[in-house]
Amino acid sequence: MPQFQRPTGTLDILPEDQPYWYHVRARARRLAEMSGFERIDVPIFESTELFARGVGEGTDIVDKEMYSFTDKGDHELTLRPEFTAGILRAYIENGMHVLTQPVKLYTFGPLFRYERPQAGRFRQHTQFDVEIIGEQDPAADLEVMVLAWDLYADLGFRDLAFQLNSTGCPACKPAYVAVLKEYYDRHHDAICDDCRRRLERSPLRVLDCKAAQCQPIIEGAPHIIDHLCDECADHLAELREYLDLLGRTYTINHRLVRGLDYYTKTVFEVWAAGIGAQSAVCGGGRYDGLAELIGGPSTPGVGFGSGQERIIMVMRELGVDVPPLSSPRVFLAHLGDAARREALHLADGMRREDVAVYVAFGKRGLRSQLREAGKRDAKYVVILGETELASGVASVRDMGSGDQLDVHLDDLYNWLKTHVQPN
Ligand SMILES: [Zn+2]
Ligand SMILES: [Zn+2]
Repeated sequence: MPQFQRPTGTLDILPEDQPYWYHVRARARRLAEMSGFERIDVPIFESTELFARGVGEGTDIVDKEMYSFTDKGDHELTLRPEFTAGILRAYIENGMHVLTQPVKLYTFGPLFRYERPQAGRFRQHTQFDVEIIGEQDPAADLEVMVLAWDLYADLGFRDLAFQLNSTGCPACKPAYVAVLKEYYDRHHDAICDDCRRRLERSPLRVLDCKAAQCQPIIEGAPHIIDHLCDECADHLAELREYLDLLGRTYTINHRLVRGLDYYTKTVFEVWAAGIGAQSAVCGGGRYDGLAELIGGPSTPGVGFGSGQERIIMVMRELGVDVPPLSSPRVFLAHLGDAARREALHLADGMRREDVAVYVAFGKRGLRSQLREAGKRDAKYVVILGETELASGVASVRDMGSGDQLDVHLDDLYNWLKTHVQPN
């Protein structure tokens, strides 16, 4: 066993994994840009207070899962556990409210949560995240939902469906929470300890409980959509109408509240059959109250985050093909010191001319160099020896056919350029 191993819940993304990562990012980026989203990048760490307020004390994320530390200047910092709070902080801090609204942003990057180790759970995981900030229209909710759906469809996931719910707003949520608490008070002896705590701190989350003893209680719980104010009810009705219009299947899921406190109105998940049964592959929602929670002007917003590691695991299991990454098609072999110097010189010139090339290292026989060229999947091997240098021509071997022909050194760049695609 090596002396050092990667920390629990982290991944090495090896060269052989990279084609999947490039492909997923390229498709996500393309879809985002098709709807006018622009890229933003925010710091990997932010002030701890931002997440404590934005994500909410009492949530699992803030209470149990954050990587928080004090730096050498006594600043309380946290590795970001999610994207939305940091992106909204950037929106406020950079005065993006003066731009044409809404501001539509996407990003990629690592998030950090101290998750319990289990398959498919990562302590450092990578998200594709999309936000529409400064827009109330349910069509904005629709746009991020459809983008999430289209991404999964594009990447080969099957049996897509939305799970949809509303978590109300400050005008209607408190009354529902009161009804929910009253109902739970009547079942106080039957529920789990976690739910008793949740009722105090983050009551909607009792609906999210996975404990077996709580399932019948959740089944009988009042539904928030029966307690929405007119504005929230209209918002949901309009969104449902648009989903019907576009033929995107959805189910109203009364238990869907998501883990974060800042959601208002729409919450959703995309479900898909990947490997095995249909299950949630990503989620998001509307967060109209978040900007105020972190000290900004009231600003509506809606977005989603999608975990890339899980997408790629499923794509591999499903055998989804991704385009290979490019690598040099030309290999420079050399025999003797003069030829070696000429090879280094040629490689330098070719790369400047946009011809990707490997050059052999070490002083080895031709057989060993050809073997390496074959393993690296080179299409052409340029062979330079004393004879070639003296005559000013290189032998070029076509590794596919085994044919060998002479190309004048002055013509070599042009010859290779016309025979291999620049990459
Ligand atoms: Zn409401
Ligand atoms: Zn429970």
